[in-house]
Parts: sequence; structure tokens; C-alpha cells
Amino acid sequence: MKTVRLPDGTDVPALGQGIWMMAEDPRRRGDEIAALRSGIDLGMTLIDTAEMYADGESERLVGEAVAGCRDDVFLVSKAYPQNASRSELPRACETSLERLGTDRLDLYLLHWRGRVPLGETVEAMERLVEAGKILRWGVSNLDTGDMEELVAAGGKACATDQILYNLTRRGTEHDLLPWLAARRMPVMAYSPVEQGRLVTDEGLGELAGERGVTPAQVALAWLLARDGVIAIPKAGTVEHARENRTAAELALSPEILARLDAMFPLPSDPVPLAML
Ligand code: NAP
Repeated sequence: MKTVRLPDGTDVPALGQGIWMMAEDPRRRGDEIAALRSGIDLGMTLIDTAEMYADGESERLVGEAVAGCRDDVFLVSKAYPQNASRSELPRACETSLERLGTDRLDLYLLHWRGRVPLGETVEAMERLVEAGKILRWGVSNLDTGDMEELVAAGGKACATDQILYNLTRRGTEHDLLPWLAARRMPVMAYSPVEQGRLVTDEGLGELAGERGVTPAQVALAWLLARDGVIAIPKAGTVEHARENRTAAELALSPEILARLDAMFPLPSDPVPLAML
């Protein structure tokens, strides 16, 4: 499995697992836990959840899935913006830890920017690091201007920006992605198969079919071919988890990359960061 280096020197798998929309339906719980566990066994040990997902139930599901292998996984969770203050963040973090059944998060993210000043969130995150509750922190859905402000407010230790990035969402390649790369801050690409929409893209399906692979695998391999990009697809079945894992072994030739560029062109100008 390819790895990506975080600013503190920690290597994490370039392909992880997202958890949004899991734990919504009790009838699917068995399949979801099986999918997560098979993904972990296959090396997709970075797991991304959030206090928001299924109103906390997603963290409980992750806790159950990793109960026997906590030390082998890299757990990421996210705090609501309204909880990202000096007084609220420790409480939100403690609740997430309790639901996940662990004593520390490997990475804690601000889910999106809200009213709490970024400098206050940085301070609250750093205090959680000092207390050993989280090993590092980062942000999500912050565009270049917000990132500039974060760093100016003392946030140089930010480990990553988790953003919407896939073949159909390339607007940040003009500004945010180079800004992050210059600071060796990896990008965590969420909705890497555009919430499933890329799976049914006709052109992508044709190209994938020629190679004997699937559209999801091509979409993921395209992200994994980029330096400093971690992709976190959500797979609700063992079959999808296995299929996605194989994407990490799929090398896309320059000819295929050129065809993908033609099918999903880079917008001519920067596009403000979108959020799903
Ligand atoms: P996604 O991973 O792009 O797409 C998930 C959808 O694609 C599901 O419907 C899944 O179906 C399907 N799928 C996955 N692998 C497939 C395969 N091999 N073949 C066919 N279909 C496949 O979208 P996402 O869940 O929005 O994003 C991934 C993760 O990023 C989330 O789970 C979450 O952890 C994170 N995220 C973060 C933010 C943020 O604001 N920070 C926002 C959105 C997402 P099945 O369920 O049937 O497998």
C-alpha cells in the first residue's frame, strides 16, 4: 500500500475508509462492520468518521469494528464547528473517544469553519494534543484564504485539509492544492467517487472496461497517482471494499491519464472549494 507522509513524519495509507452514511440503518450494520474489517485486513487502516455522522452512531460502529485491532488503525474524527471552542472541544472529543472505545484519536479535524475564531480552535486542539487525547489535528473544507488565516493564527501544525476532491472536482488544483503541497500538508480527498456518481459515468465506464477494471478503481487510482493525496472512499459492502483496495495497485499509464484529463478537464480558473 502506498503511504503518505504527514507533516510530523507519520506515514499513513494513501487509501483509507470513509464512514459517512454508515450506521443509519440497523439492518445494514453487519455488512458495514464486515466491510470495514475486510478493508482493515487489506491495509486500508485509516478510518474517517465524525461526531456528526449518524448522530454519533457512526463512531460507535467504528469502535465496534476496531475493538480487536485499535493499535493497528489510524482513527480520524471530526468536531462540529460549534464545538470547536476552548470550552466545548474537550467535551466533544471526550464523547467521541467514549463512542469509539479508545483513549486517543490519531487525528482530530475541525469539520468546517463556523463562528469560533480559528485561533481559538488551534489553541483548543493544541491543548488536546498536550493532554494526549489526540495525537495531531487538522481541518476540513477550508479553502486557501481560510488556510492562510489558520496558519497566521498559530495553526502551523495542521496535519491535513480534508476536502472534496475527485475527477469531477478539480477546481482546487489551481490554488489550494499547490498551497498545501508547498507546506507538505497532505490533502485528504473526500467523496473520491463523487458519492457513487462516478461509478455510473459512461465515459469512465468505457475506459475502465477497456482495461478490465471498474470506474471506481480508475477514479481512486487517479487520486492515488498524485503526491500527497489520501483518498477515503466509503464502501458499505465487502465487495466494494475489496474492489477499492485493488485500485491502490492500479498504475494508470500516461495515455490513460491524458484521456482522463480530456474527459474531466481542469477548469480554466480556480473554483471556490465546494462542500458536500
Ligand atoms: P464516496 O466515497 O465518493 O462514495 C460512496 C458511495 O459510492 C456509496 O454509495 C458506495 O456504495 C459507493 N461505492 C463505493 N465504492 C464503490 C465501488 N467500488 N463500486 C460501486 N460503488 C461504490 O462518497 P462519500 O461517502 O461522500 O465520501 C467518502 C468519505 O469522505 C465519507 O464517508 C466521509 O468519511 C468523508 N466525507 C467528509 C466530508 C467532509 O465534509 N469532511 C464530506 C463528505 C464525505 P456502497 O455503500 O454500496 O458501497
